[in-house]
Amino acid sequence: MSDITVRKQAEETIRNYAGELEQRVEERTMELVYANQAKDDFLANMSHELRTPLSGIFGFCELIGEGLYGPINEKQSHGIDVIKSNGAHLLNLINDILDVSKIEAGKFELRPEITAVNSICQSSLNFILQQASKKSIRVEFPLLPDNLKIFADSRRLKQILVNLLDNAVKFTPDKGTLKLLVKEDARAGQMRFSVIDTGIGITPEDLKKLFRPFVQVDSRLSRQYEGTGLGLALVKKLVELHGGSLEVQSEPGKGSSFSFVLPWAQDIQDHVNQDIPGRELQYQDKKAGGMALAHGRILLAEDHESNVMAIEDFLKASGYEVFSAQNGREVLSKIEEADPDLILMDIQMPEMDGLEATVLLRADPRYGSIPIIALTALAMTGDRERCLEAGMNAYLSKPFRLTDLLQVIDKFLKPDAQP
Ligand code: MN
Repeated sequence: MSDITVRKQAEETIRNYAGELEQRVEERTMELVYANQAKDDFLANMSHELRTPLSGIFGFCELIGEGLYGPINEKQSHGIDVIKSNGAHLLNLINDILDVSKIEAGKFELRPEITAVNSICQSSLNFILQQASKKSIRVEFPLLPDNLKIFADSRRLKQILVNLLDNAVKFTPDKGTLKLLVKEDARAGQMRFSVIDTGIGITPEDLKKLFRPFVQVDSRLSRQYEGTGLGLALVKKLVELHGGSLEVQSEPGKGSSFSFVLPWAQDIQDHVNQDIPGRELQYQDKKAGGMALAHGRILLAEDHESNVMAIEDFLKASGYEVFSAQNGREVLSKIEEADPDLILMDIQMPEMDGLEATVLLRADPRYGSIPIIALTALAMTGDRERCLEAGMNAYLSKPFRLTDLLQVIDKFLKPDAQP
C-alpha cells in the first residue's frame, strides 16, 4: 500500500514539475519573442533617427556646393567637401552597425546576381587609390579576363573588398606594397580573393580577437589607428553568408594576407548577364545645372523640417512647383488644392505614416495612378517591398543625393528625358 502511495506521490510531483517547466518554457519563449521584436524596433528606429538628419546634412551640402544659394569661394567649397566626407564616414558606420545587427538577428538578405569580377575589383580599388597614393603605396592588381563572373551579391562583395583593401592601406607604412589577387579554381568550385600587404602585421595573440565585433586589436586610448572594430567582423559574416570562408596569415613587421574563397562554378561564365528584377533604382550622376527647367507640381510629405527645406529648394531650382505636407493626414487634406503630378512620401511621419496615406490615396479613383515615390530612412529588410505593396512606384533610401531624386522624378514627369 505505502509503496503505491509513495510512487503515486512521486508521479504527481513529476507531473507538477513537467507542467511548471512547460509553463516556464512558454514564458521564456514569449520573453524572447518580445525581446527580438524590441531589438527590431530599436534597429529600425535607430536607422531612421540617424539617417534623417544625415539627409539634411547631405542635402544642404549639395545645394550650397552646387552654387544654388549663390557663388561660393574655394575655401567654402573645401569646407563643404569636408562636411560631405565626414557625413559619408558616419553613414558608413551606421550602415556597418545595422548590417552586423541584422546578420546577428538573422534578418539579413543577400541579393546575389551574376557579377563581373574584374569590374567589382576595379571599382573597389578606386575607393582606396587616392589614400594609397598619398602614402606612396604601390597597388598591384593583375588584370583578369573581362568575362570572369561570379554569382554573388555585388554590393556586398564590393563591401568585403573595400573593407579589406582599406585596412591594408591603413596598416601599411609609406612606400609599402598592396596586392589584390583573384584566382579561380574550377576543380574545387571556388574563387579565391586575396588582399596582401607589407604592413605592420598582426601577432598570433591578436589574430584571435580580430573578428570579434566592436573589438579593436589595439584598444589603448593612444592607439594610432582609428576605427570601430566592426569592419572585419562584418567582412567575415558577409563572406560566410555567401557560403565562403575567410582566412588570414600574418607576421608582425612583415605584412598580412587576408583571403576569402567563395563558391564558384565554371558554367556561370556561359550565362548571359541578365538584369535581376528587384534591384534598387540606380541612376548615373547628372548635374542639375545646365538642364532645361522642368514643369510640374510636386507634393512633398516629410516631417523633418531641414529635409523639407533642402528638397524644396532643390526642386524649385530645377523648375518644379513644390507643396509640402508634414504628415499623411496633411497629404490627404492638401492634395485636392495642390493637385500634384507626383508625390514624394516620407514613410515615418507623425499622426499618419506614409504607407497608410498611400493606401488611402490608392483607394480613391482620382489618385489611383499618381506617381508616389517613397523617401525612407528605415532601410531595413522588407521596407522596399512594403512600400511597393502599399502602392508606391519607386523607393529612395535616405540619405540620397538630390540629383538622384531629381532623376527619379524626371523619369515619371519627363519620360523623354531618360538618360
Ligand atoms: Mn520622417
